[in-house]
Amino acid sequence: MTKADIVVLGAGLGGISMVFDLKAELGKNHRIILVNKTESFQFTPSNPWVGVGWREKGDITIELAPLMKKHGIDFVQASAKKLHPEDNRIEMEDGSSVGYDYLVIATGPELAFDEVEGLGPDGHTQSVCTVDHATRANVAFEAFCADPGPIIVGAAQGASCYGPAYEYAMILDKELRNRKIRDRVPMIFVTAEPYVGHLGLGGVGDTKGMLEHEMRQRSVRWITNAKVEKVEAGTMTVSELNDDGTEKTKHALDFKYSMMLPAFRGIGAVRDIEGLVNPRGFIIVDKHQRNPKYPNIFGIGVAIAIAPLEKTPVPTGVPKTGYMIESMVLATARNIKALLEGREARDEATWNAFCLADFGDRGVAFLAQPQNPPRNVNWASEGMWVHLAKVAFEKYFLRKVRKGITETYYESAIMKMLAMHKLK
Ligand SMILES: Cc1cc2nc3c(=O)[nH]c(=O)nc-3n(C[C@H](O)[C@H](O)[C@H](O)COP(=O)(O)OP(=O)(O)OC[C@H]3O[C@@H](n4cnc5c(N)ncnc54)[C@H](O)[C@@H]3O)c2cc1C
Repeated sequence: MTKADIVVLGAGLGGISMVFDLKAELGKNHRIILVNKTESFQFTPSNPWVGVGWREKGDITIELAPLMKKHGIDFVQASAKKLHPEDNRIEMEDGSSVGYDYLVIATGPELAFDEVEGLGPDGHTQSVCTVDHATRANVAFEAFCADPGPIIVGAAQGASCYGPAYEYAMILDKELRNRKIRDRVPMIFVTAEPYVGHLGLGGVGDTKGMLEHEMRQRSVRWITNAKVEKVEAGTMTVSELNDDGTEKTKHALDFKYSMMLPAFRGIGAVRDIEGLVNPRGFIIVDKHQRNPKYPNIFGIGVAIAIAPLEKTPVPTGVPKTGYMIESMVLATARNIKALLEGREARDEATWNAFCLADFGDRGVAFLAQPQNPPRNVNWASEGMWVHLAKVAFEKYFLRKVRKGITETYYESAIMKMLAMHKLK
């Protein structure tokens, strides 16, 4: 067997797991190259904690170059500018190129702040999507606490990742209570979802009831079916739609601090490559995580195309969470191994959704198997244990990355969760 070059583009939750799984499957027989635009891996699920100062960047990031060297994986720090799939080559922003025999695209989302006037850290709202955004959100939060006022948290039209918006609203509430200034902060949650707890999944178990309950307990008002028209300094203009898509009310909401999650799209380097991506730039994959037009290209994580669950008055997307990403990683590693050994790619990911939404002192967990209803497991639960579990998961995942182990941490966590559930 000749030595193949397998390039993993993106070192987030998916890409970092991918290189270790490939290493475990392929050993030293092939060259594994990790390409990432930043020098570090970041544990994205902890970013909301960075936004309130409960974590710092250094707590949840790991430098990639020494880590990859230790594990015998090549690392290239560069930003992909344009993929040339016909030439099996990625052109980088710095003018260099990286060639491949097999490519795994794990570049997560491009954050589409530009789709709403004034949205995002270069406009008037904060973000916790990246650790750098969350660090800026924390600086702004500290300034806000010196002179508090109204807060808006939520997710804009087309967003697909709602869990972190709920998390951030609740942990802000907790931190403001810790500082004894919560009484000076009216809070409102603004979301594209048709109802609280929809989560892009049509709800899971009683997430609607649980999340509404949490918001009522914490004096957080909400607007659903919300389309953010524009954001100006201190004012967000929001259209609240009826179920038939017509406008019900227009709101001009005052705020002194706001964190809004944007819609996601695929990165510029792959956008508009016919047959590789959908109109939003997400990688088209078959059930083996493989692109039908370019069969030596695989896609994993947030970068891949998954059709929305249902038509909602304001567009909502489907979340791609850690549990399903881990299952995509494992299937992809096994499929690449099979192809290198002259066999067919047969492994399939499970694509189930699991989430621990931390609220700072308690939280809500849910498991959807399969992701879309009707489901075999449609379970949601709440309590202080969710907060403790999330803290433990962060530690566990960072350990997994540091040690380069291939443990599927979501899988084992879910097994424990189900065992607990049965004990109830
Ligand atoms: C704030 C937040 C909290 C979340 N919390 C949870 C949670 O608690 N549980 C859960 O299951 N899911 C959670 N998710 C959803 C999901 O698990 C994460 O988004 C996860 O990080 C996605 O992994 P990924 O590998 O697909 O993408 P990412 O982790 O975003 O990684 C993409 C990588 O690609 C790199 N990259 C991007 N463009 C280029 C380029 N042009 N060239 C080179 N490299 C590039 C980036 O630098 C990054 O390292 C959360 C998402 C967000 C945004």
